[in-house]
Amino acid sequence: MHLTVLGTGTARPVAETAASGILVQTATTAVLFDIGSGIASRLEASIGAAALHGLVVGHMHADHWIDIAPLRYKFPWGETAPRPLEVHLPPGGKDRLDHLAIVMSERPGFFEASFNIHEYASGAEFMIGDISIRPHPIGHYVPAWSMEITGPGGERVIYAGDMGPADSVVELARASELLILEATLDTNAFDDVKRGHLTAEEAVDHAVRAGVPRAVLVHYPIERLEAIRQICAPTGGVVLPALPRMEIEVSVGAAPLVTLPDRRA
Ligand SMILES: [Zn+2]
Ligand SMILES: [Zn+2]
Repeated sequence: MHLTVLGTGTARPVAETAASGILVQTATTAVLFDIGSGIASRLEASIGAAALHGLVVGHMHADHWIDIAPLRYKFPWGETAPRPLEVHLPPGGKDRLDHLAIVMSERPGFFEASFNIHEYASGAEFMIGDISIRPHPIGHYVPAWSMEITGPGGERVIYAGDMGPADSVVELARASELLILEATLDTNAFDDVKRGHLTAEEAVDHAVRAGVPRAVLVHYPIERLEAIRQICAPTGGVVLPALPRMEIEVSVGAAPLVTLPDRRA
């Protein structure tokens, strides 16, 4: 599987990156995981919406799904899309989408005209093309799911999403090729009692305990990049902060190859 990081930001808009969005591709299938603010444009700068087969949303915070609104305008305006996009939302997501159409001043059924909309269930595997996806519930401020993503060769990526500390993710990521973790907080002193985010130190600890050959950190404040690099340094390159347009090649039983974005582009 080939991954492209489209955004590494948090909910706060910044010049350097969009919010959450990771593109996963095989030879025949392209699936976008999360479509936070700014990601629809970043997708156009990458493969473009027309090349996409599916979209999977891990939870319904704006920085993970709000760009589903501009994405819809890539599809035919008045008629049904010739090839609808497979959209997989958390339980209750269809109702949210209906409300979104109303608040956008669009007609009822606006999203359904171009999207095949599904609601996934905890632990229930589904396929988009040759990519298998299994959502696992995870502790966040709202219902949220980590995504276990398995490619056609059996290569496995865990995209954990927004989460507080969770041994379940350490177990899930064991023997996977790549773990993608958030690193939102600079300190856990001000988080809720029921934790909803990780510090970079906690993210590194999760990756090390899982024993994965590679982990990347996303969903971090961009001004923390150098500090996060320092926190990752003791892992000797096993854990890295992701950067916008970073590419990651994942194959079975090997440490994924990470390519830094071409800064000239
Ligand atoms: Zn969230
Ligand atoms: Zn978030």
